[in-house]
Amino acid sequence: MGLFNKFSDQLSGVGKNISNSTQQFVNETKIQAAIRDKKNTINEALLNLGRAYYTAHTEDTDGEFSGTIAAIRSEYQAIEDLKKQLSGVRGKTICPKCGAEIDKDVAFCPKCGANLAEAARAEKEDHTSGSDTSDTAQDAAAPLQEEAAGQSQTDAPSSDAKPQK
Ligand SMILES: [Zn+2]
Repeated sequence: MGLFNKFSDQLSGVGKNISNSTQQFVNETKIQAAIRDKKNTINEALLNLGRAYYTAHTEDTDGEFSGTIAAIRSEYQAIEDLKKQLSGVRGKTICPKCGAEIDKDVAFCPKCGANLAEAARAEKEDHTSGSDTSDTAQDAAAPLQEEAAGQSQTDAPSSDAKPQK
């Protein structure tokens, strides 16, 4: 009987140790989850802040974050070009007016009713009058470069005065 008591004491001791370390693990996990939760909240807020700033300063070509803004804008333009490519792969096209994906051979956009033959002709004229290159990446970059060049002339003194980081 004495032996059994000793043995059961040892057992409950082991059990206590296990439950202690289990409790510690549970507490750690809870705290880590809380930290992760806070970090997610912060990241979401930072993302919203960044989006709001980007929306308010999309046209900025001067200022501390103008480089980042230009990079984001260029990525958005690249996405538009990729969407056009995707539509092409699918055998479809993008309505130049409303951006809907539509069949290539329709005369009018089924969504907004745009005259697609006219829109295609206008776009062609735009391209031939602008430049003779048909490279889509250059087409996408061109307006941004022109914009930046136009702005840098007027903003030259201020951008010289402000040291670039
Ligand atoms: Zn449309």
